[in-house]
Amino acid sequence: MLDSILQKNYETPIYKLGFLEENNLYIKRDDLYPFSFGGNKARKGLLFWKDLKSKNANYIVTYGSSSSNHCRVVSNIASSERIPCIIISPIENNHETYNKKMMEKLGSKILFCEVSKVKETIEMTINQLKEKGYTPYFIPGGGHGNIGTQAYVNCYEEIKKYEIQKNIFFDYIFFASGTGTTQAGLVCGKLLNNDYKKIIGISIARKTSYGKQIIISSILEYLDNARKFNIENELILDDGYILDGYGKSNEKINHVIFSVIKDFGIPLDETYTGKAFWGMKEYIKKNRITNKNILFIHTGGTPLFFDYLKKGI
Ligand SMILES: *Cc1c(COP(=O)(O)O)cnc(C)c1O
Repeated sequence: MLDSILQKNYETPIYKLGFLEENNLYIKRDDLYPFSFGGNKARKGLLFWKDLKSKNANYIVTYGSSSSNHCRVVSNIASSERIPCIIISPIENNHETYNKKMMEKLGSKILFCEVSKVKETIEMTINQLKEKGYTPYFIPGGGHGNIGTQAYVNCYEEIKKYEIQKNIFFDYIFFASGTGTTQAGLVCGKLLNNDYKKIIGISIARKTSYGKQIIISSILEYLDNARKFNIENELILDDGYILDGYGKSNEKINHVIFSVIKDFGIPLDETYTGKAFWGMKEYIKKNRITNKNILFIHTGGTPLFFDYLKKGI
């Protein structure tokens, strides 16, 4: 079944939402990627699964918190392919979320440990599985690494294809940047195409300097000849909207989430897409951007929209 999604080379829709400060605002609905509520973790996850299959692995090990979209998607890949799955999760960040409920219902085993013991717990788990005769496959948290980067090079190619088909060219791309893999892939896509777009990651938690360091190393890992490009200049990761950090929200984000579902019928969340949509609006105002074509990539996280609703705000 997953094969057929990959073979079909599914492309997520792009369409115009309206105007934003005299700019044309478009959206790419990666939240509609056709597996397990979609989003960037589904796009990455399916490529990891392809790699897993080529290596004949028969056990998945991954890492993430209880609210992780990545862990929900990986659990769903495991359940649909009948591969057992262990999720290593930091005990400090354990909340009852819809994603956690799904991981459990889909049959993943969640192994909690202190955040400081994650690395050794992963190694221990993998070694134990090998001793039992399994071929474990480890997927880094958030779908980080070259395979995750590849997923967003592919996404960039879809954007290019749309531009040529519709004769509409984007000046800016905005999205929520977390581990930075999505951004690394988009920037690699841009470099490979010799393109001019401004790719602006709205950081949802990391400070710019640290976040950029990680993204640069992802780009260097992916592109052999990356050093010939001036990557530093290509990278805009704005930490002006992180508030008090991961998952922390404010009234303005609430307002954005409500108005986007009301006006466009699109669910956003406080941790990623709502924060990024708000950040994008502020960034455009602050930098007095006008008369441009702007693309917002909806990176998914639909279950988090329901966590948000349940909180009763
Ligand atoms: C993980 C995630 C992101 C961040 O993606 P990275 O590749 O880690 O930067 C953005 N939006 C949603 C909904 C996510 O789940």
